[in-house]
Amino acid sequence: MSFEAALEKLHLARPVLRGESMARHTSFRIGGPADFLAQPSSAQEAAAVLQLAAAYAEPVTLMGRGTNLLVRDKGIRGLALKMADGLQEWSMDEETGLLRCGAGLSLAAAAHKAAELSFCGLEFACGIPGSLGGAVYMNAGAYGGEIGPLVAKVTALDEQGREHSLTGEELDFSYRHSALMEKELCVTHVELKLSQGDKEKIRAAMEELKAKRWAAQPVGEASAGSTFKRPPGAFAAALIDRAGLKGTRVGAAQVSLKHAGFIVNTGGATAQDVLDLMTCVQEKVWEKFRVRLEPEVKIIGEE
Ligand SMILES: Cc1cc2nc3c(=O)[nH]c(=O)nc-3n(C[C@H](O)[C@H](O)[C@H](O)COP(=O)(O)OP(=O)(O)OC[C@H]3O[C@@H](n4cnc5c(N)ncnc54)[C@H](O)[C@@H]3O)c2cc1C
Repeated sequence: MSFEAALEKLHLARPVLRGESMARHTSFRIGGPADFLAQPSSAQEAAAVLQLAAAYAEPVTLMGRGTNLLVRDKGIRGLALKMADGLQEWSMDEETGLLRCGAGLSLAAAAHKAAELSFCGLEFACGIPGSLGGAVYMNAGAYGGEIGPLVAKVTALDEQGREHSLTGEELDFSYRHSALMEKELCVTHVELKLSQGDKEKIRAAMEELKAKRWAAQPVGEASAGSTFKRPPGAFAAALIDRAGLKGTRVGAAQVSLKHAGFIVNTGGATAQDVLDLMTCVQEKVWEKFRVRLEPEVKIIGEE
């Protein structure tokens, strides 16, 4: 039986898509087609898909809400496993302050649910557009906060679909890094330890950070957030700005005029446009400041 036929026999709640354009699943609105795209609605479905892919030796590419991804123009060979459309469940244990979320829940939704119940800690995350799974993988952070220190436990599946449990310590978080980057595990659930706070103060902090973000960043334009990581002792955006690169274009990819740390797709940009613009920025910043900029955006797909 073919892999496609075997996938169909799983009778997933959402049908597996064939040749699906990844531009429809990334905030950059860029990316060639994935051979197969599965959007499991539960950990059980994700495990079944992983098991099958392993049996057929099909490569698997994990993704969440696609807000930190640049998918190359040739697309993704094998299976893209999108963990962000399902796995939206959540529950709060108000005794212990443990918020348990499905990996597909958005950070914004988690932050708002916590605030509603007067739990604080997630205010920094309310404007980050990713999923819980993607946030833990990336150790997402903003305005002095990071997800890593809040993580009590993560439940994840290995490539055979077997379940594992990892503590925050085991995930070895550091700046935009978690041990998941070396482990090939698919996160299905995340448990965050939050503290009790004052609902109005939490809401006010979230509003303030949201306003700051909208004032400084090209929110609403197609991008994947900060293109480059913060180099030691400097800010990527400041270096790019001082190198005079704001507004620089390759094809329809442009260094944002609002925030030099972002590359935006002004309409119809290809992944190659973005990659060429990234190289141009890296070269100019190296020439001027002798600082190497490393991508924060994850570049995936066939070369
Ligand atoms: C406008 C804008 C603003 C942003 N601001 C910020 C910011 O302030 N701070 C910040 O840190 N980031 C920011 N980002 C980037 C992005 O939102 C974060 O990195 C986010 O955590 C990515 O989550 P995602 O679900 O979109 O993951 P994706 O982009 O889909 O994937 C990112 C990586 O995580 C892996 N992954 C995703 N889900 C899982 C899973 N369930 N199990 C295992 N691995 C998984 C993928 O394989 C991939 O390597 C911004 C992006 C945009 C577009």
